[in-house]
Amino acid sequence: MPFGFVNGAYNRASGTLDAFAGLSADLEREGHPPMVSLSGDREPEDQLRIWYERMTLTPNGRKVYGKRVWQGKTWYQIHPDTVGVPDTSNHEKRRSNDLKWPYNDRTTAAHKRARILATRHNITCEGLSFSEAWHWTHWGPIGVIASPAGAGSSMPADPEKKSDPKEHKTMKRLMQIDPKVDGRWFVVDYLAGTAVRQWNGFQLDRCREDIVRGELIELGGPQTPAVIQGLKIING
Ligand SMILES: [Zn+2]
Repeated sequence: MPFGFVNGAYNRASGTLDAFAGLSADLEREGHPPMVSLSGDREPEDQLRIWYERMTLTPNGRKVYGKRVWQGKTWYQIHPDTVGVPDTSNHEKRRSNDLKWPYNDRTTAAHKRARILATRHNITCEGLSFSEAWHWTHWGPIGVIASPAGAGSSMPADPEKKSDPKEHKTMKRLMQIDPKVDGRWFVVDYLAGTAVRQWNGFQLDRCREDIVRGELIELGGPQTPAVIQGLKIING
């Protein structure tokens, strides 16, 4: 079993993905479990959402775990888990993964061995410096950034087109959100001729918000697997 992701986690940077896959394979060869990421890349809007969940300007008597300065103001951490200041987290830089057991506990044999093998892959357990033994970071070349699995779904798939406001204005995408197929959501995009899968709940909610705002047009009725088969599958 290779390096994997659960809970909608993903790595879009090829350098990061290859480094973690390589380290995981090295560990497996020595009889340790493969690495599984519970949280990888964070899109800037995800990072902000987590920030607002865990930090506040007004703790109002709630337990405060720490403080951070952002935009010139002191924010109070009211959640036991830390969160990087927006635009500074290595999750946002597509370099980090929060790994599942046994790579979340510095005392396990697998974690100890991973710390040694990690140097070959330009990875360190960065979280050890802030009591998050599950947080591992790749410091090597970032490589190529794959297109998002549905992130920015209201935008044209081609980044060149994004810069053309006229084109963007007339762009209304026809989307079909299908039920889960083998544990993954499918979003079928008729205009682009694609089906996006492996969407997490958050991305799905954003897509639904876009539909409510009229930026996307949702087609009624579930599609048959045959319809999906005729489309290019992104991030499948
Ligand atoms: Zn982390």
